[in-house]
Amino acid sequence: MNQHDEGGAAHSVWRRRLLGADPLRQLRMRQQLTAFAAMLVSSGVFALAATLAQTPRPWILLWLAYSLGLMLVFLLLIRSGWSQRLRDPSMTRLQMISALAAGAMAYPMAGELRMLALPMMMLILAFGMFELRGRVVTAMAWAGLAMLAAAMLFSHWVWPRRYTPAQELATAIMALASFSAMAVLTGRLSRIRQRLTQQREQLNEALAHNADLASRDVLTGLHNRRHGEQQLLLALQRQQRQGTPLALAMIDLDHFKSINDRHGHAVGDAVLQAFARAAQPVLRGTDLLVRWGGEEFLLILETDSPEAASVALQRLREAVQGCTVPAEGQALGFRFSAGLVQARRGEDAETLLRRADAALYAAKQQGRDRIVQA
Ligand code: GH3
Ligand code: MG
Ligand code: MG
Repeated sequence: MNQHDEGGAAHSVWRRRLLGADPLRQLRMRQQLTAFAAMLVSSGVFALAATLAQTPRPWILLWLAYSLGLMLVFLLLIRSGWSQRLRDPSMTRLQMISALAAGAMAYPMAGELRMLALPMMMLILAFGMFELRGRVVTAMAWAGLAMLAAAMLFSHWVWPRRYTPAQELATAIMALASFSAMAVLTGRLSRIRQRLTQQREQLNEALAHNADLASRDVLTGLHNRRHGEQQLLLALQRQQRQGTPLALAMIDLDHFKSINDRHGHAVGDAVLQAFARAAQPVLRGTDLLVRWGGEEFLLILETDSPEAASVALQRLREAVQGCTVPAEGQALGFRFSAGLVQARRGEDAETLLRRADAALYAAKQQGRDRIVQA
C-alpha cells in the first residue's frame, strides 16, 4: 500500500465516522454540514453587525444560542439516525422554517447591516430546491416574508429613526421579488426532477423488458440457450457452495424430422410450442426449462433430493403423453427421450452436459420415449 492509498483509507475512515456508514445518511450529513457552515458564517457576521449596532449583549447571545443550538440539534438528529423514523429524514421543512426565523430575528439586531438578512434567507430557501415542491417553497417564501415584515415593524417601533418606513419598504419589495423568484425557480426544478424520475423509471422498464426478450426463444417463449448456460453456471456455483443437489436433463423430441417431413414445418413448430406449454404447469418455480436448440431442451433442476428430479421429469413425460397437436384434422401426439444426470461436487458444466448427452443417446438407443438416468 503506498502513501496515497493510506491517505485515502484514512480519509474514508474519517468520512465514515463523521457522516455515518449509510450512503443516504452520508448525503444528508453532507447537506447538513454545508448548512451548518453557512449558518456558522452568517451567525458570526450577524453577531459582529449586532455588536457594531450596540444591540444589547443578552439579545445577541440568545440569538446565537437559538441559531447555532438549532443547527447542532438537527445535525445530531440526522447523524444519530433518529430522524430516519420521520417521513422526511432530512427534516427540510422544519429546518427551513426555524432558520428563516433566525434570519428574521437577526434583522432588528443587525443595524446598518440588516440587509444581510436577505441573502441569508435566500440561501435558506435555496436548500429547499433539492427536496421540496415549488408549492412548498412558495409557502416557505411567504412565511419568511411574513416573519421579515414582523421584524421590520418591530424594528421601526423600537428604533423609529434608524428603521425608516422608506428603507423598510424598499427592503420589503426586494425581499418579495427575490423570494418569489426563488419559489418559481424551485417549482421549475421540481418539475424537471419529476420528469427525470419518470424517464428513469421508463428506461428501467424498457431495459428489463429488453433483457427478458434477449433471454428468451421467440418460438416457444422458453429461455434461450445463452440464458440457460448462464443459469447453469450459477446453479453449479450454488451447488459447490451450499451443496444443493443439482440435476440436469437433456431432452430431445423423438422422430421429430419425420413429423416435419410428414406434416410440414408449421406442424413441427406447433409441436415445439405444445411441448413448452405442456411443461409449464408441471415444473416448479426453481426448475428452468431451456430451448437448447432445434428440438432439444435442457432442464435444470435444483431439488431437495436426487429422486425429486426423476419425479419431475416423469411428470413432464406424463404431461407430454396427454398432449396433441392438430395435423390434417387429426390429433398428433409426440414423445421425447431424456438423459438425466446428477451433478457431482466440483464438476464443470461441460462434463456435466457431456454426461447428460451420453444418457440421452442411451435413451435413444434403447428405443426412445424414455428417461435414462446416468
Ligand atoms: P431422434 O428421435 O433421433 O431425435 O430423431 P429426430 O428426427 O428428432 O432427429 P434429428 O436431429 O435428425 O431431427 C431434428 C429435426 O428438427 C431436424 C430439423 O429440421 C428440425 N428442427 C430443428 N429446429 C426446428 C424448428 O425450429 N422448427 C421445426 N419445425 N423443425 C426444426
Ligand atoms: Mg435432435
Ligand atoms: Mg429428435
